[in-house]
Amino acid sequence: MKYLEEFQDPRLARRLLDEIHAVTTRPWALMEVCGGQTHSIIRHGIDQLLPEQVELIHGPGCPVCVTPLETIDKALEIASRPGVIFCSFGDMLRVPGSDRDLFQVRSHGGDVRVVYSPLDALRIAQQNPEREVVFFGIGFETTAPPNAMTVYQAEKLGVKNFSMLVSHVRVPPAIEALMTSPDCRVQAFLAAGHVCSVMGTEEYPELAERFRVPIVVTGFEPLDILEGVRRAVIQLERGDHRVENAYERAVRPEGNPAARRMLADVFEVTDRPWRGIGTIPASGWRLSERYRPYDAEHRFEVGDIATQEPAACRSGEVLQGLLKPHECEAFGTTCTPRTPLGATMVSSEGACAAYYLYRRLGGPVAAAAPTAMEASPVG
Ligand code: SF4
Repeated sequence: MKYLEEFQDPRLARRLLDEIHAVTTRPWALMEVCGGQTHSIIRHGIDQLLPEQVELIHGPGCPVCVTPLETIDKALEIASRPGVIFCSFGDMLRVPGSDRDLFQVRSHGGDVRVVYSPLDALRIAQQNPEREVVFFGIGFETTAPPNAMTVYQAEKLGVKNFSMLVSHVRVPPAIEALMTSPDCRVQAFLAAGHVCSVMGTEEYPELAERFRVPIVVTGFEPLDILEGVRRAVIQLERGDHRVENAYERAVRPEGNPAARRMLADVFEVTDRPWRGIGTIPASGWRLSERYRPYDAEHRFEVGDIATQEPAACRSGEVLQGLLKPHECEAFGTTCTPRTPLGATMVSSEGACAAYYLYRRLGGPVAAAAPTAMEASPVG
């Protein structure tokens, strides 16, 4: 496939790997921020091809995984109400709340629908004026612009029976929280390329300077990730701490100005709890005062739901890079994709799901399944 296979070329991957091996002289710990990058790394066995001294730590960048339990419970409460049509992307339906998930709400008669765009939900609201239609708006800076635009459209079109349960999160405050944690081992970041395609890179130099940490904006294909690792390791070996853009085909320093304007109009920054991690100041967006009538949390008065994370699930440690998924006692035994205890086992970007899908049932290396890159001349 054009523009995809080029970034999976085994010979170029070999060359990048040789360079990484040649420049590495000491142990380094790099965090890939995004769950999409984690899946690519585990799927292609990239972490196993790197020098032993280079460790990839999986970060908190899975939007489904970090959506707080209280927000899931609010979604379940709203979706259970008579007359409501609750619309969501598919991977939220199996995320466990305190005592059930959205699939179970649907099996008990709730009208829960999978949509592929927030605009689908708005259309459903226009087609069902007698019903309340709610869209579950979660995610990082990547999914926030279309959600913002949908609320903007709802107001413009005067669609009053549409609202959004918003749980958007922002990457830079999460990097700050990770770096100020006493347990932090991260020495460099592979920043999420798709987030930067929206927001640009302007928020990162201050973080790189303050924490003396290299930040390399990185894409998602194997060659993108290897190039991100190569640049990060070179900086670490030289004692640099700069922001570099290794995803220039998608990311400009200023990001996407139209999307950023839409975000600034519809959302305002707020403190946000992250599942398993806790509240990170200024790490989220909520609807701004003008669009507050479209806020499902206010419309359905579900602001005061208290929750308790299940003790068996250690996804908070997984999301902070303190624990690898297969090191969790429940991994692959009481917790599987069919019987998930935490969102990181459910989401298509969750680290636990990646380890379960691609290998790691019996140990970090020995049980590895063959991957595209390992089966190629690279390996
Ligand atoms: S394996 Fe399951 S229980 Fe363990 S951290 Fe991952 S989601 Fe939670």
